[in-house]
Amino acid sequence: MTSPTAFPLGAIRHDWTLPEVQALFALPLMDLLFHAQRVHREHHEPNTVQMSTLLSIKTGACPEDCAYCPQSVRYDTGLTHEALMEVAAVRESALRAREAGATRFCMGAAYRSPKARELKVIAQMIREVHALGLETCATLGMLSPEQAKELKEAGLDYYNHNLDTSPQFYGEIITTRTYQDRLDTLRAVRAADLKVCCGGILGMGESPADRAELLLTLANLPEHPESVPINQLVQVQGTPLAGTAPLAPFEFVRAIAVARLLMPRSHVRLSAGRQAMSEEMQALCFMAGANSVFYGEKLLTTGNPDVERDRQLFERLGLRAETSSGRESGHGDGHGNAPGQESGGCGCSRLHAHAETAS
Ligand code: SF4
Repeated sequence: MTSPTAFPLGAIRHDWTLPEVQALFALPLMDLLFHAQRVHREHHEPNTVQMSTLLSIKTGACPEDCAYCPQSVRYDTGLTHEALMEVAAVRESALRAREAGATRFCMGAAYRSPKARELKVIAQMIREVHALGLETCATLGMLSPEQAKELKEAGLDYYNHNLDTSPQFYGEIITTRTYQDRLDTLRAVRAADLKVCCGGILGMGESPADRAELLLTLANLPEHPESVPINQLVQVQGTPLAGTAPLAPFEFVRAIAVARLLMPRSHVRLSAGRQAMSEEMQALCFMAGANSVFYGEKLLTTGNPDVERDRQLFERLGLRAETSSGRESGHGDGHGNAPGQESGGCGCSRLHAHAETAS
C-alpha cells in the first residue's frame, strides 16, 4: 500500500514536522479515514474500545482561570462545590464501577496542584482502588516530581494532564499557568514511571494551525501518551467560552484521524462532547481510530438512559469493550454496561462536563 504522503504512515515517530501534520489534515477525508483505520488495525484490535469510569473526588472552587471550565472559582456557572470525598466513599464508588464492568477508575480533583495533606488522602484512595484490582488514574493538576513519586508508590497507574491546545493559542485560554508548567508536570509523571493520559480540547476558537500544533506537540513528546483524549468543547454558560462558534464535525473527525496516524499505539479517546455528537459522527470517529471512551460513575445505574443509549450504539456498531489486559469482553462491556456521559477535557481535570451534568 503506497502512502498518500511523502512520508510513511504507521511508524512510531517523535520528529513530526508541522508541514507533515498539515499535509495529513489536508488529505481528502476518505483517504484520511482509510489510512487512519489501516494504521489503527496495525496496532490495535479492531472493533474494541477501552472504557474507563470517572469520579469527581473534589469539585469546583479551583483558583485557575481555564476559560472553558465551570470548576473555576472565577466564573459563575451555578456549579455546586464539593470538598474532597471521604476515602470510604471513593472505595464504594470504585466497587460499584468494578461490579458494573469497569477496568479503570479515574479520580479527578479541581486543584491547581494538590497540597501535601490532600495528596496523602488521595494516595490512600489510590491504594484502596488498586486493591480492588482496578487500574487507577488521577487528575489533580500540577505535580512536582516528589508528588508524582508518592502517587506511583500508592499504586497509581495513569496520570491525566492535558496540553489543552497549541502553545500559540494557549494564552487565550489560560493565564494562571504556562504551557511549560504543563510540560514540566508531564515530565515529572514520566520520571515517576507513571503512564500518561494527555490530549486537548477542540472547538475553543482555535485555528486549524493550532489543532495541527497541538497534535504535533503531543506526538513529539519523548514518549507518546498512552491515552490521548480529544475533547470537543462543552460550552457552559458563565464561562468565557460560552457562545464560541462550534467546530465543524468533519474537522473534529479529521483531528481524531490525524492523532491516530501520529501516535499509532496510543489509545485515542473520544472524550468530552461525545454525548452531543450524533451516532453517525461517533461512528466516524471510531472509524478514524478512536478506541477509548469515558463514562461517569454516577451514570453506572441500571436503566440510565445515557448508558442504555450507548449500549445500543455499541451493539449496532459491533464494538466490544477492551479489558485491562487488552482482551475483548463482548459487546458493550460484556456485562450489560456501556459507556455513557464522559468527562470534560480540562488541563488538570477532565471533569468539567461531568461536574456540569452530575455534580
Ligand atoms: S481545568 Fe482544571 S485547572 Fe482549569 S479551572 Fe478547571 S479544574 Fe481548575
